[in-house]
Amino acid sequence: MEFKELTVEELTQGFVHIEKEKKLVCIFCGETFDEDVIYQSGGRMLTAQGAMKEHLSHIHGGVFYGLAGLDKQINGLSDTQKELLEGMYLGKDNKELAEQMQISAATVRTHKFNIQKMKREAKILLAMLENIEEGRPPQEEQETRSSRTQPQTQAAGNFAGNVLHPFFTQFNLK
Ligand SMILES: [Zn+2]
Repeated sequence: MEFKELTVEELTQGFVHIEKEKKLVCIFCGETFDEDVIYQSGGRMLTAQGAMKEHLSHIHGGVFYGLAGLDKQINGLSDTQKELLEGMYLGKDNKELAEQMQISAATVRTHKFNIQKMKREAKILLAMLENIEEGRPPQEEQETRSSRTQPQTQAAGNFAGNVLHPFFTQFNLK
């Protein structure tokens, strides 16, 4: 298998679908399941998808724990962030999380706020990289950009003055 950059969808589902080989490959250990094979488990018949889900659950504790358990160099998460995310995953409310983590409910809310901020920043970075991968800006956009009359430095002129509508930036602090 060639080196592959994982998409958000593949990271979320925990496996890669290699269409031309009709195979599903676990992103954590490389275990493969063949789409032409019917798998058996505990007297049940499973498709490759079903077998992969069972594999992810039994071997890696599910995709959430698989991702949380990656090296900090890979997922970038501190122990506190992991504990908070796990609590959210398990459906704990702020009071329960505060007790478990021995911090105030206000601090739990701040941690959650920061996680939402990281999510928004990560998505903006992804969107910018998608634009880069799609190629150079169209000619019209370049002309519009170069005809701006503000006497600013090039960088400030190009990067300043855009905001997201508040509708997209109001975090819901539950
Ligand atoms: Zn695996």
